[in-house]
Amino acid sequence: MPDTVTIENVSSKLPWKFSVGRRLLRNINYAVVHHDAVLAPDVYDPVLRYAHEADYHISKGWGHLAYHLRISRDGKIYQTLPFEEIGYHAGNWIFNRTGIGICLDGDLTRQPVTDAQSTALKGLMRHLAYERPDMPILLQKSFWAHKEVRGVGWPGTIAFIPNPTACPSPTIAQIVKAYRLSAPAG
Ligand SMILES: [Zn+2]
Repeated sequence: MPDTVTIENVSSKLPWKFSVGRRLLRNINYAVVHHDAVLAPDVYDPVLRYAHEADYHISKGWGHLAYHLRISRDGKIYQTLPFEEIGYHAGNWIFNRTGIGICLDGDLTRQPVTDAQSTALKGLMRHLAYERPDMPILLQKSFWAHKEVRGVGWPGTIAFIPNPTACPSPTIAQIVKAYRLSAPAG
């Protein structure tokens, strides 16, 4: 029996101002992994955390929370944005337009990722790559750490921007890169 991944959908509980844009699930072909870069306590209410961050992203003009999926410190997975909705998380329109954003709670450059989080991330990547026939071109080779993705502007702009972000920490970047690079050929 394959491992099962449980995802709790809380997207309807979070602040929302406007749609950035929509896409079809069958065209989703990237996933970019982040941390939220905010120190997380041992115990907290994840939905409250995501609501605060949604307010912050709305204040930056991004419409709603940037990330589709969140992984809390205790390793639970939450859907925080419908996959059909574009999130502005990668600093790169190509990756944003047909990608999903996965964000681990915590400032993982200043506090260690929890074992529960890294286990959940690996299970989530496998689930998205192999157990989602509604996203048929989201594959093992589709997963990127944020800092691997070069910045490029909104539609109509062509400037590539060096990406100085430390997101999502060396440890998580290595997990994501190793997963992508171990993808079967083809
Ligand atoms: Zn990031």
